[in-house]
Amino acid sequence: MVTLEDARQVLLDGGQIANVTRIPLAKCLGRVLAEDVISDMDFPPFDRSPLDGYAVRMDDIKTSSRDNPAVLRQIEYLPAGACPRLTVGVGEAARIMTGAKMPGGADVVVKLEDTYSEGQQVFVHSPGRNDKNICKRGEEFRAGEVVLRKGYCVQEGTIGILAILGRDKPRVYTKPKVGILATGSELLPVSAKLQPGMIRDTNSHMLAAKVRNAGGAPVMMGQVKDDLAAMVEQLQNFSGLSVYVMTGGASVGDYDLAGRFFERLGIPILFDRVAIKPGMPVIAGRWGDSFLIALSGNPAACSVSFEVLVRPLIKRIAGFTQFEPIRIRAKMAEKFGKASPVRRFIWAVCFAIDGVIFVSPLDHQGNGMLRASEKANALLDIPANSPPLDRGNEVSAILLQRTTI
Ligand code: AMP
Ligand code: MG
Repeated sequence: MVTLEDARQVLLDGGQIANVTRIPLAKCLGRVLAEDVISDMDFPPFDRSPLDGYAVRMDDIKTSSRDNPAVLRQIEYLPAGACPRLTVGVGEAARIMTGAKMPGGADVVVKLEDTYSEGQQVFVHSPGRNDKNICKRGEEFRAGEVVLRKGYCVQEGTIGILAILGRDKPRVYTKPKVGILATGSELLPVSAKLQPGMIRDTNSHMLAAKVRNAGGAPVMMGQVKDDLAAMVEQLQNFSGLSVYVMTGGASVGDYDLAGRFFERLGIPILFDRVAIKPGMPVIAGRWGDSFLIALSGNPAACSVSFEVLVRPLIKRIAGFTQFEPIRIRAKMAEKFGKASPVRRFIWAVCFAIDGVIFVSPLDHQGNGMLRASEKANALLDIPANSPPLDRGNEVSAILLQRTTI
């Protein structure tokens, strides 16, 4: 038995970051950048107008008012995309639209609402603003600036920034392939009609979703019976994956074969059992360059072990620099009546009231149940040897990743 921290460290220490590939920008949402993105230009690339109006010289309008408008002559018309040909001189103005390049000579844009015109004559009836209404070249990025860092997960806005910088095929990490194998003679595929004594394989599908959300590519290895030869054969059918997650049989029952399975394959064990509840039965080893991790078949236990051990490993291999769970401090919104001799994780919902974060344990926490984990946005982390918790007690929790794409 090892501590959770030791188990996690052993996994993370062995995790090699995936290969690098280039993919079209349109497919980059949720992918992990495999390069620092350095701007090769100033952005905006030229001084531009942030509004519709007239580009003029401040000196010409600074004393203008409704009663005493400045009278200027329009010399040019500049829609967005146009390149100014003339320089704005004393007493002159260029009609300019939002996004158009500023003409030389002008140092302020007055908005259309502060002007009126008659033919080529422009009347400006308010003084210019001090900030001069110009978006300056390079005000967002400078040439040579690192705008995005390697290991960053591409968000919606990131796609926009990559587009600004002309990255039509950014370099990202390949998604690590993660095999998922359900073991248990009671398991049927989801599509099957139920038979007496049997249940549908829940874990494979739930784990596949978790793997996807962790930046991996799940490989469904199906269900095998509690039979060593069948388990070995199925693993060998799927060689070359980065990580294998199996569920079921990791405990000490007559048909809990995971331990013997590792032995049969000659897989060196990294650790066997982790001091947490639920999720204690975990066996991890290296199968060549791959990780083989056996989790409990109990869906809630399997889910806890995945969150605290397997997700960080997959994220690490997928190239995320932020791969550890995010931890918060919160106040118990309700009491929790059980003592915790072993470190305990509880499915919970955290929420804020007036800036204070509260956490509330959910019903249906049972090892074999899923409803609490489905609703939870946090896992309450109660240290070993804790008494029951009262309302208002300060606790630690980790935030769970909810699906975004
Ligand atoms: P085990 O870890 O094999 O001792 O299984 C513990 C409990 O989880 C038993 O009630 C199993 O029927 C159940 N179980 C095992 N594998 C799965 C699975 N893939 N999906 C849903 N429940 C499972
Ligand atoms: Mg079993």
